[in-house]
Amino acid sequence: MSWQQRIDSALAQRQAASALRRRQAVAQGAGRWLMAEGQRYLNFSSNDYLGLSQHPQVIAAWQQGAAQFGVGSGGSGHVSGYSCAHQQFEDQLAQWLGFPRALLFISGFAANQAVIAALAMKDDRIVADRLSHASLLEAASLSPAQLRRFAHNDASELQRLLAKPVGGQQLVVTEGIFSMDGDSAPLADIGRITRDAGAWLMVDDAHGIGVSGDEGRGSCHQQQVQPDLLIVTFGKGFGVSGAAVLCSETVADYLLQFARHLIYSTAMPPAQAVALQAALAVIRSDEGRARRETLARHIAFFRAGAAALDVALTASSSAIQPLIVGDNARALHMAGALREQGCWATAIRPPTVAQGTARLRLTLTAAHTTDDIARLLEVLDAAS
Ligand SMILES: *Cc1c(COP(=O)(O)O)cnc(C)c1O
Repeated sequence: MSWQQRIDSALAQRQAASALRRRQAVAQGAGRWLMAEGQRYLNFSSNDYLGLSQHPQVIAAWQQGAAQFGVGSGGSGHVSGYSCAHQQFEDQLAQWLGFPRALLFISGFAANQAVIAALAMKDDRIVADRLSHASLLEAASLSPAQLRRFAHNDASELQRLLAKPVGGQQLVVTEGIFSMDGDSAPLADIGRITRDAGAWLMVDDAHGIGVSGDEGRGSCHQQQVQPDLLIVTFGKGFGVSGAAVLCSETVADYLLQFARHLIYSTAMPPAQAVALQAALAVIRSDEGRARRETLARHIAFFRAGAAALDVALTASSSAIQPLIVGDNARALHMAGALREQGCWATAIRPPTVAQGTARLRLTLTAAHTTDDIARLLEVLDAAS
């Protein structure tokens, strides 16, 4: 098969399975509203859970940061790209989350790839929740370590896998809140089992940070677990972009030597680090708490209303409220029907989720009003 034939055939296969992905350019994609094609839709598809992407203080901080530092960092953090704005934000994160150190990365995807690639060696074993994010599973399967996956949130299967003989070290990988199901990991059980096995625990809390727990400290803090490596990302609850790894002094020093995404890549713009400090200040403030409370009310209201509809909810108490519809075409149909009624939601299909579990992934945010959620329920009732 030529390159061209290979590409044509892969696209034809996706098309035939109603799984061809297309992007849509929007005029605004985060916040209460999504604007596209001159239309305004209620936005139930962004991960901007607290509505901070549109927060005046965060926007002003980014502008002030750009005026002070310019728009780019100018290089890798190992050369000249690491500014005092990066350093301040890392210190604030470490203090907030109770870790000795924080290291900023350009994205959660990069952080996960970098950490796993830097740590995992031949003879090691990575034991990961089967539903872990693509960035984690891909890094683990590309690494020289053995990858074993345990059934979703099944701590006893994790325990069995960890008990098998291994030549090197073991790294347990899971998430605080799962992206496609919205449910939470039993972190206390997983933490105890991991410690008893002498393994290390890596938790990716992309969807929990800023949004759950006291002061928005996330899933680990909420479940009183201190993982060896905590990954937090800033494109969701923080409303910005970027990520950080929270860890010990020596692990941070080790990653600065061996995490290639840090060494051979331009550091995030300093202005972004200034904006992230502003987002963190909002998250930790009374206003942040009020936003989390608003979100919690929307979630409870949505779940109570959706229980009466002919749709399958997941065991999620988070802002991610997927409706599992099974079939790709039905998921697309429902997304289309919602769109006609002014509500924007995304159909998520295999291979992002398991075959036969296509879903409408709805996300609720603090930027919505109670009426917005009521409208969503009304439209879902008509579409399901
Ligand atoms: C979104 C997400 C990532 C990727 O983070 P980015 O900063 O968007 O690259 C990683 N892990 C999980 C669990 C996520 O949901």
